[in-house]
Amino acid sequence: MFDVIVIGGNLAGASAAINAVEKGVNVALVERHKEPFSPPHCGEGIADVTGELLELDKINCPKNEIKFVQINVSTFKEYLFKLKTQKIFIIDRNYVEKSLLEKAEKKGVTLFLGVSMSDFKSPNNVILDNEENISGRVIIDASGIACQVGRRIGLKTHLKPEDIGVCIQSRVKSNFNNLIQKMWFHTPYAPFGYAWVFPKSNTLANIGLGIPGGQKVDLDELLKNYINFITDGNCTVLSTFRSCVPSGLPLQPLVQDNVMFVGDAARLVDSATGAGIHHAICSGSLSGCIAAKYVRGVLPSLEIYQTEMQNKISRLTRTYYNKSKLTTDQKYISAYKKAWALLSITNKIFPNFFQGYVAKVLRKDYAILEKYK
Ligand SMILES: Cc1cc2nc3c(=O)[nH]c(=O)nc-3n(C[C@H](O)[C@H](O)[C@H](O)COP(=O)(O)OP(=O)(O)OC[C@H]3O[C@@H](n4cnc5c(N)ncnc54)[C@H](O)[C@@H]3O)c2cc1C
Repeated sequence: MFDVIVIGGNLAGASAAINAVEKGVNVALVERHKEPFSPPHCGEGIADVTGELLELDKINCPKNEIKFVQINVSTFKEYLFKLKTQKIFIIDRNYVEKSLLEKAEKKGVTLFLGVSMSDFKSPNNVILDNEENISGRVIIDASGIACQVGRRIGLKTHLKPEDIGVCIQSRVKSNFNNLIQKMWFHTPYAPFGYAWVFPKSNTLANIGLGIPGGQKVDLDELLKNYINFITDGNCTVLSTFRSCVPSGLPLQPLVQDNVMFVGDAARLVDSATGAGIHHAICSGSLSGCIAAKYVRGVLPSLEIYQTEMQNKISRLTRTYYNKSKLTTDQKYISAYKKAWALLSITNKIFPNFFQGYVAKVLRKDYAILEKYK
């Protein structure tokens, strides 16, 4: 029997497995893809604080540093944020995922790559699609939006259409200013959501959009229009994918008996921005530490994970309810315009305070993690 089995080998799952094995327990990780999905289903934008957790410099991860964020809300009026203390990186997520899995293997995690969990028999048995059956004392569900273990043990994992961020993204070759990240909120490109340009260099960018599900719109058409607007039609689209991100309330509970939920499986995504990388890495890492310490008898219960995540859950819950109130065009546009106008003025006058605050919130997760490392 394994001490810990992690289902899903992306950012949350790999972080969980590495942190658990580092505490001296016996860990298996099951990931249905042999290689990370390429190109990744992600804009690849992260804050530098998150980059520290990923040790981007140590692993030599290619990254583009953003110096300005340009925001539009339904009109051509722009709010420009100059980044001074806070940095944003557009990373190479495939590179990160490969490095994490290599690190996990080197540290002794048993990897089942190219193998799916086809069923789960509570409390310990993970049935694989290669006919193998493995068991674990603690199970960490890092399977993304499908929340594969959660739905099999009867948790309410169903998401309403409006609580699913429906996304489409292309990898585009054209001329870009690689210092500027662009986000266009609401119409005409992304009704009740936003479209983005995350440049990876001055010739390559991730251009995409994400909107709440349940709307009768043509995603391909919206993306085509936005890409044309950004590039004046002078571009080559290298690849396009559709994907989803959970944008509902965090899953409750985050621990059920011997099962812990992390990352998108736990719905730990900011519903206003769709950002989930930071939460995936932090929740994954914390769950791995706590699971291992529980197995070794150092901690009395897995419930400590739920307690430590409570502040994050409250923050994400507040964002969700604030956003849910913006049900009409008028409410949406006026709230977003007000918020970005206020933030851009604050950023102009007190850049260190504003950007420092963002970093401080993210660093709180470090402090929690440090307690269990
Ligand atoms: C288009 C798009 C753009 C985004 N851009 C950003 C961004 O720029 N910045 C940001 O912070 N966030 C972004 N996000 C959100 C971010 O990508 C996610 O929050 C993050 O990837 C969650 O990581 P995870 O490890 O929890 O889940 P996932 O990345 O979904 O990983 C789940 C893993 O589980 C595996 N799996 C699933 N079922 C099984 C099974 N039965 N057996 C074995 N393995 C299984 C899957 O193959 C997958 O590898 C974006 C999301 C989308 C859709």
